[in-house]
Amino acid sequence: MNEEKTWLWLADNLALDFLNTLLIRHGEFTETLHEDEDVRHWLAEGSLVAETDRPIKAGLLLRAAVELREAIRAAVQDRKQGREVDTAVLNRFLQHRVARLHLAKQRGHGLTLVEEHATGDEMELLSPVAHAAARLLVDADFNLVRQCEGSACVLWFHDSTKAHRRRWCSMATCGNRHKVEAFRSRSQITEKKPLPKRPIPKL
Ligand SMILES: [Zn+2]
Repeated sequence: MNEEKTWLWLADNLALDFLNTLLIRHGEFTETLHEDEDVRHWLAEGSLVAETDRPIKAGLLLRAAVELREAIRAAVQDRKQGREVDTAVLNRFLQHRVARLHLAKQRGHGLTLVEEHATGDEMELLSPVAHAAARLLVDADFNLVRQCEGSACVLWFHDSTKAHRRRWCSMATCGNRHKVEAFRSRSQITEKKPLPKRPIPKL
């Protein structure tokens, strides 16, 4: 895995962040999941259990991750368009969601609720992502589930802002690019205006 790899965590939703592992860079669709290790790294960065006691055959985790991601993408798009959602793949992953709950003591008299996963196969490692997608499909207001308005951007996000006016994956990239383009097109309009005629000064 490329050590410089950094994942985008800007969607305000785990399932949408997972969709955003396929993005557009320099105008081209770019896959960021290339091997099992990339998937493990993404899961770990997303604070999900990424390891299993059982060895997983090379390539299986990546294949399952891409299958799940594209099923989530189709479901999100269908839900967004008001079409019927195909739940087959998501349900297959959800069936592997096994988590035992455990109250753990914290310093002082504090308690925290920990999910302990039976360490199993690649389907189980990915099942929390399927769970997040299922919650999104069931609970979310899909008016707030949107794709960035950037012309060369496919990133999804859940608009959790108070005013619900989020338009961009990030202000620093697409939001800023839009501002610059809007400024340019405004100044082009200004340039196209005929210059005011002035009387030629008599020498
Ligand atoms: Zn964007």
